[in-house]
Amino acid sequence: MLSAEQLSLMVKEHLGLYSYYDDVQHSCKWIVGESSVGGRGLIATENIAAGEVLFVDHPLIYGPRAGTILQQGCTVCCKLDSDEFFKCSKCALLLCSGQCQDSGVHSDDCAIISRWGTKVPIEDVDDKLLSRALTAIRVLLLSENQKQFMASLQAHTSPQHGTEIKDLKQFFDIPEDEEQLMTLACCVLDTNAFQIASLYGKKEMSLRGLYPVSGLLNHNCISNTRYSYNNEYQMTVKAVKPIPKGAEIFTCYSGVLWGTPARRTHLYKTKHFWCKCERCADPTERGTLLAALKCFSSECSGCLLPIEPLKPSTPWRCLECSLRIPSNNICAIQGALGSLMGTLNFENVEELENFLLYRVTKYIPKTNQIVIDLQCRLIWEFGDAEGFRWHGKIACKPCNLEKLYSRLIMIHVLVYTSTEM
Ligand SMILES: [Zn+2]
Ligand SMILES: [Zn+2]
Ligand SMILES: [Zn+2]
Ligand SMILES: [Zn+2]
Repeated sequence: MLSAEQLSLMVKEHLGLYSYYDDVQHSCKWIVGESSVGGRGLIATENIAAGEVLFVDHPLIYGPRAGTILQQGCTVCCKLDSDEFFKCSKCALLLCSGQCQDSGVHSDDCAIISRWGTKVPIEDVDDKLLSRALTAIRVLLLSENQKQFMASLQAHTSPQHGTEIKDLKQFFDIPEDEEQLMTLACCVLDTNAFQIASLYGKKEMSLRGLYPVSGLLNHNCISNTRYSYNNEYQMTVKAVKPIPKGAEIFTCYSGVLWGTPARRTHLYKTKHFWCKCERCADPTERGTLLAALKCFSSECSGCLLPIEPLKPSTPWRCLECSLRIPSNNICAIQGALGSLMGTLNFENVEELENFLLYRVTKYIPKTNQIVIDLQCRLIWEFGDAEGFRWHGKIACKPCNLEKLYSRLIMIHVLVYTSTEM
């Protein structure tokens, strides 16, 4: 276990703010310290203004996500559709072209994997499994210092993590120390990795990265930062509100525009905790009503909200007529809405618009996260689809897209700017 000072130095070295070689330290406005929510966190050492860049992080390792249902693509350029895909004859990784095979990225990957003895002919190695394990395999490329840094990050060690490395042993003889390090990397990745956002609508393999400094940020659904990526997978973390000296710096591990039940379930499934933050505890989510459903009573125009949002089995109640609905019925509606969304073709503007106008808004109010999500998608498609224009198309009016911007701003104001954390 590293001390806070050792960890601080590693963090600064990783960010290029400190070098052991010339012993120069650049200042920044935060330190690694004790978190109010337990464990370590980043704490402001000076007042930080809204909009200030806190740091620019880069991944220790990055690569394909490990989900079994995710589509696999070229392990170098991430392209998903190609008639030319082939497996490397030395390592069995999937590639799209000679250019990707000759790249430095592939040479590094190939050098590690081709060192291992094989238990089956190389062409019989499962390239999907290899791709799912690739991010963890890349931990073997790190320097000793970087490996130590990786190992110092929080890790979920329950047996469901790291199965991709166990499965690799059907195909390869892997030295025990390498297996251990890769398994640890899987646990650290499952706990800390960020999904790297690709350009909206761009079809490429979904990636994740281990951003060690961002990984030290604790979660709050009312985050005081936001992050964005550039083409080099660098992550810029900025303050979204003033952060006073001594306050903890937070990020949101879940969808900021998702309602509480969706956020909490997602956090539980991916990060193994039930969030109890101020936003999660407020049935109205600071007035944003992102999870609200329409009242079941046909005479009432009110909204249903959870009575005790921190209890998954809480009944819901109408704000107007006080009608109570048991959680089972609410779950059934949420499930049905989810399935309906799953049937949609998001590239078909007319289908999206009809769904928004005539189907989904029968069950949910306009504040609901699904309406917000559909409106965001429509804005995107209107900007891109033949024959549609942002302001020109009459059909925009009933969708209320014009109002979306003001609603999004309102949500941000409500979520981010009320009380101090
Ligand atoms: Zn490629
Ligand atoms: Zn290869
Ligand atoms: Zn929360
Ligand atoms: Zn009602």
